[in-house]
Amino acid sequence: MKSFSSLFPLSSFLLLVSTLGIISAISPTALAQTASCPTSALSRFVRHTVSRGETLDSIAQQYSLTTTAIAAMNPGLQSRDVKIGKKILIPPYNGIIIEFPRGQTWADIAKTYKIRADVLFEINGCQKNPQFVFVPESNRSTLRTAIQSAAIPTSNSSSTKFTGYPLAAVTNVALPYGWQTNPQTGEVFFHSGIDIVTAVGTPVTAISEGVVAFADSQGTYGNLVIINHGNGLQSRYAQLETIKVVVGKQVKQGDVLGIVGTSGQPSSPQPHLHFEIRTSSDLGWVAKDPKNYLK
Ligand SMILES: [Zn+2]
Repeated sequence: MKSFSSLFPLSSFLLLVSTLGIISAISPTALAQTASCPTSALSRFVRHTVSRGETLDSIAQQYSLTTTAIAAMNPGLQSRDVKIGKKILIPPYNGIIIEFPRGQTWADIAKTYKIRADVLFEINGCQKNPQFVFVPESNRSTLRTAIQSAAIPTSNSSSTKFTGYPLAAVTNVALPYGWQTNPQTGEVFFHSGIDIVTAVGTPVTAISEGVVAFADSQGTYGNLVIINHGNGLQSRYAQLETIKVVVGKQVKQGDVLGIVGTSGQPSSPQPHLHFEIRTSSDLGWVAKDPKNYLK
C-alpha cells in the first residue's frame, strides 16, 4: 500500500532540501495569501536544537511526527545518534517537499499524491505559482467523510491500553512502515502501514474494541476494514480476501474482521495483511508506525 505513488528519485529530493535552504528561500517571499488561508506549511517549519538526552525518536514524539518525516527533511541525519546542539528542521506535518512540476496544476499534484486539491492548496498558503510545495501524507480523503461520520465508542477508554495484534500468532513483517524504495523500479514511496506475512485464508482480528467505520473494497487497499477505537485512534486491515463485518458493528478485541487475501495492489509480493494505525489530526487520519501499537 502506498500513501504516495511518488515520482521523484529520493536522491534528488534530498538534494533539493539540503541545497536550497527551503525555509529562508520561501518564507519571506510574500506569497499572495487570502485572508482566510492559513500560513503555508513551508513557512511553518521550525528549527529544533538538540538538547542532552534527546533522540530522533523523542524529538519526533515531541512534535507528533514520524522519525522518517524528520529524517527526510534533514539529509545529514542518517544515524539515530543526534548530537547535542545540532539544529534539526521540523516540518509542521508528516510529508515531503516537491518542486512544483512545470505545466502542472494543483489538481494534477493532488491526484498524483492522492490528496484533496483544496487541502493541498490551503496547506500551501493558497499560493498561485509556488516554486516548492509541501505535500502532507495522504489520508485517502475519499474515505475521510465516511470514516469520520461513523460512530465512535463512548466507553471510558482513556484507561484502556491500546495495543494488540491483528492475527492469532505473531509473525514476520515483510515491509515496515515509512519511506521505502521499490527494488525493481527505484521508485520511492511512503508505506503507510506494515505488511505482516501470513497465509491467504488466515483470520484477521480486531486489535482492540471499537466500531467498524468502513468495510468495503477501496482502491489499492483492496478489501478494507477500518475500525474507530475512540480517542482519535483507528486501525485499518487491508488486502483482505473477504470481509466478515459491516459498518456500524461494535467489535471487541479478537473479533474476526475478515480473511487474509491479496486483493487491491499489495505492496509486498508474498501474502500478507497490510495493517495500519492512524490518529486523527487537523489533516485527517494520519498514519503512525504500527509497531508501537503491536504487542
Ligand atoms: Zn502494505
